[in-house]
Amino acid sequence: MPQIIYSPSKYIQGSGEIARLGAYCRDMGAKEACAIVDPYILSKYEQEIWSSFDSECIPLSLQVFQGECSQVQAERIAAELYQGSKGMIVGIGGGKTLDMAKAVSHFASLPVMLVPTVASTDAACSALAVLYHEPGEIDRYLPLRRSPDLVVADVTVIAGAPVRLLAAGMGDALSTYYEARACHRSGAVTSTGGTGTLAALALARTCLDTLLADGRQALEDVRAGRVTAAVEHIVEANIYLSGIGFESGGLAAAHAIHNGLTLLEECRGVLHGEKVAFATLVQLILEDAPEEEIREAAEFCRMAGLPVTLGELGLDGSDHERLMVAAEAGCTLADTPMTNMPFPVTPQQVLEAMLEADRRGAVLLSQPNGG
Ligand SMILES: [Zn+2]
Repeated sequence: MPQIIYSPSKYIQGSGEIARLGAYCRDMGAKEACAIVDPYILSKYEQEIWSSFDSECIPLSLQVFQGECSQVQAERIAAELYQGSKGMIVGIGGGKTLDMAKAVSHFASLPVMLVPTVASTDAACSALAVLYHEPGEIDRYLPLRRSPDLVVADVTVIAGAPVRLLAAGMGDALSTYYEARACHRSGAVTSTGGTGTLAALALARTCLDTLLADGRQALEDVRAGRVTAAVEHIVEANIYLSGIGFESGGLAAAHAIHNGLTLLEECRGVLHGEKVAFATLVQLILEDAPEEEIREAAEFCRMAGLPVTLGELGLDGSDHERLMVAAEAGCTLADTPMTNMPFPVTPQQVLEAMLEADRRGAVLLSQPNGG
């Protein structure tokens, strides 16, 4: 089995990057561009986006993206693009907007530049798009022919998004090292089709170290409207380190349990990274991880306002039958990453680990917060 690492060709992060998108397109040799933009971001940054392409004399067509990233919509936009275009697809917005840009670039066989405007998940760097049926249900994962050509993260734009989204991204990033480590131990095949590389594992470790070192300061700074080194480090951890770490290091119990939780409509208002954060604590308990490691991860979640109890996920800890629905699904859904764990995991073990995480979380919540 080969070891494989995927990565965007270029990753650029800085302040004011949204005004340089035209120059980045020019550097990639694009003669024209089609931008798919989130309506809120367009209302705030329309001037910067247009003038960055105007000043490079790159014709820009702009599509406001609303609704679902479905195959029908992606193929429609791809078909509308000029055949034989030397253009570049540009996605500017949150996860679904970026998925749409990825899917359009795939169907139109054109390069893609992704501009994440929130750091709530680690999906921007991956060679995967999630397609939905029009009403909002997941249709399928679309594996792309190649990783994004360019990912441009504007830290000032990301820092201006609601702080809950940055915290959720920290929850998604928290799982990365533990899942990559589990895959490394089991020799699991990642979504690249190979086993993980030492490089992906090292990036995942750096992701965790960065969260623990700078997470608290970054949240404080974003709340105060400051863009600091701590904020830059967390944006890199949430988007790049976690992105490479999950795709090429592999997913395991934390995302398997997350996927199970998505079946419970009580959790519907809970963000991806918030569910992943709690599921990470469950994975550590399943692994019988060192006490210090479990405590450190749980205290991090509490500090970041991420769920440490079932109640914070909207669930009733005494309704074991209901929790079993998620535990069961986490172990048995098609292609569940639970099978990447270094040992077999049963739904009963997941249920017990969820209850144990909840019990520990309740103790943590009853203690004064370290500030
Ligand atoms: Zn995730």
